[in-house]
Amino acid sequence: NAVVISRFGQHADIETDNGDVLRCNIRRTVKGIVCGDEVQFRRAKVSEGDLAGVIEAMHDRRSQLTRPDFYDGVKVIAANIDQILMVSAVLPEFTPSIIDRYLIACEDMGIEPILVLNKIDLIDEQGLADINLVLDIYRDLGYQVLLVSNKTGYGIDALKETLVDKNSIFVGQSGVGKSTLVNTVLPDAEILTKEVSENSGLGQHTTTVSRLHHLPSGGNLIDSPGIREFGLWHLDVERVTWCFKEFRKFIGGCRFRDCKHLNDPGCIVRQAIDEGDISQLRFDSYHRILETMADGRAGARAPR
Ligand code: GDP
Ligand code: ZN
Repeated sequence: NAVVISRFGQHADIETDNGDVLRCNIRRTVKGIVCGDEVQFRRAKVSEGDLAGVIEAMHDRRSQLTRPDFYDGVKVIAANIDQILMVSAVLPEFTPSIIDRYLIACEDMGIEPILVLNKIDLIDEQGLADINLVLDIYRDLGYQVLLVSNKTGYGIDALKETLVDKNSIFVGQSGVGKSTLVNTVLPDAEILTKEVSENSGLGQHTTTVSRLHHLPSGGNLIDSPGIREFGLWHLDVERVTWCFKEFRKFIGGCRFRDCKHLNDPGCIVRQAIDEGDISQLRFDSYHRILETMADGRAGARAPR
């Protein structure tokens, strides 16, 4: 058995259980291999050129990281991810509704999200207290929250601890500090990428494909510049509602089956807000997301 470190076209680099890295052909019948896949392989005879093996089968996945795709609807970009570290920052502005978008995607894929708030060196105590009030909403929902600073090193040990023995990936908007964080937890990542591009002559691909890196304390980081942002346009309204996990237990309980949970009479979601069981912030965010889906800004299918 082996794990796919990186895939490019009909080839993939795999790492075997004893740590050998082999460049393999992918048997034509094996479809859709991605970074993080666990596979069955066979070593090749020398006569098969510089390729060291053949991937013969793919094992079942425990999770799939997907991205909306114009042609296929949904495209799998990595497999067997255990947790998604969703990075936001004090600067550019901290926006909970973006967190909610990523959370929807995580809930939909069934991958555990961890909220990482970076650059906390840039705020004073009052600023931090304000942000913590918002983050408490997510803590209360059971999501893990990490406050970090690349600059001062604050929270970095806790972050590294969280990565141990898991397959992780960093996502988040541009400018929040993802590259800096990746370099902090994985000092030799760039060397690895460079090595592959020099040896393979596939340089232009290696910058866009996802790649699995081993972390010094155990566990793996799957990364590439292109993997770090994903959308949710393939989801319908019912699914988005379900992905707000505190709404779940109220689904189906409203008086009207097609309740929009806005001003509809007999709406128990609305009632849950009045009683403090659902936060106003999350509720507002929910409706903002549905609005952007309706007018196509999120590329979403319009609600019926
Ligand atoms: P990415 O686009 O998410 O990969 O973000 P980068 O890693 O490129 O970082 C964007 C900018 O934020 C860079 O100028 C970094 O130096 C800066 N930055 C990253 N982490 C921190 C931090 O903890 N504190 C401060 N003050 N700046 C940071
Ligand atoms: Zn309702």
